[in-house]
Amino acid sequence: MVKYPIYLDYAATTPVDPTVLEAMLPYFKWVYGNAASSTHQHGELAGKAVKDAKSQIAELISAETNEIYFTSGATESINLAIKGVFEAYKNEGNHIVTVKTEHKAVLDTCGYLEEIGADITYLNVDDHGLISLDDLEASITDSTILVCVMYANNETGVIHDIKKIAKLAHKANALFFSDATQAFGKIPINVDKLHMDMMAFNAHKIYGPKGVGGLYINPGVKLASQIHGGGHQKGKRSGTLNVPGIVGLGAAAKLAQQSMLREGKRLKELRDEFENELILLNKIKVNGDRINRLPNISNIQLLESPDAYKFILTHKEKISVSTGSACNSEVIEPSHVLRAMNIDDDKANKSIRISLGKNTEDLELIKSIIRS
Ligand code: PLP
Repeated sequence: MVKYPIYLDYAATTPVDPTVLEAMLPYFKWVYGNAASSTHQHGELAGKAVKDAKSQIAELISAETNEIYFTSGATESINLAIKGVFEAYKNEGNHIVTVKTEHKAVLDTCGYLEEIGADITYLNVDDHGLISLDDLEASITDSTILVCVMYANNETGVIHDIKKIAKLAHKANALFFSDATQAFGKIPINVDKLHMDMMAFNAHKIYGPKGVGGLYINPGVKLASQIHGGGHQKGKRSGTLNVPGIVGLGAAAKLAQQSMLREGKRLKELRDEFENELILLNKIKVNGDRINRLPNISNIQLLESPDAYKFILTHKEKISVSTGSACNSEVIEPSHVLRAMNIDDDKANKSIRISLGKNTEDLELIKSIIRS
């Protein structure tokens, strides 16, 4: 029996996988020690669970376990990376390069730093959602301390050429940070081969719990702590560790490691078939690069629907999808991502994001709704 509405908003968040929940439950019930308590077995058991989770995450991104730090989610990881570098490297420069299509967690953090003296360059993207490497190179100055480019965009799924971008940053002696929240666990990531200095991720986009995430930090990076306290996690992020959440993040990373390639292939096929059929019928246009893209996201203009928001509300009983726009009480702002891709407000307002996940068996229902 199909349960309505059908969930097609996996890029917003995902349901916790039963194996992840099973892995977490003992840490709510019996293993309640503080991972920092080294004087008794309760603490040791919790500490071991955190260590195991680090190994599972490190394996997924080809990192070392001592390079993984836990936070309350990607937003906090992003704040720690960007503000942490700005403070730690203030004697070397105040310039940060980022992109107009970044998540608000990056843009608002950069906006805050501008208020306290940072000089931020926001790179443009082309119609495909990609930056020009020449523009990036030209934007870097002697005072550039950080280049910050997301791995894959949360609205369009478009994937940047991270390796080349990181190399350009390093050529100019700047650090490279990537918000990989959407790419983590969806496509293979090797932090070493990509020359990553820092990378943010979370659990809830990959069938783990909400409110827990992490930051990969290359040991060569100096980072000023943003949360002070008991000196946990080598002083980089104080606070008692959320052991059940961390266990969930580790279990979700392990699950992703096992299923990522197979699941990516399956979702890509479903997504591409859906898009191709509707393109042939002249019903949709895809926003963003169709090649360099995550397998599970489709951002489309509904060519026959003047208002995507109304479309979504009309079909809310049957399908759960989102617009690219952030809706703020009665004011619906067109998506900053689509705007940056030279998509006018009229077209942006016709756009919806469909994101697929493990319970997506087919896209027949949404296809028939768009067709009708
Ligand atoms: N960055 C990107 C690209 C995202 O998609 C999200 C999730 O919405 C975040 C950051 C924020 O993640 P969190 O909910 O863990 O704070």
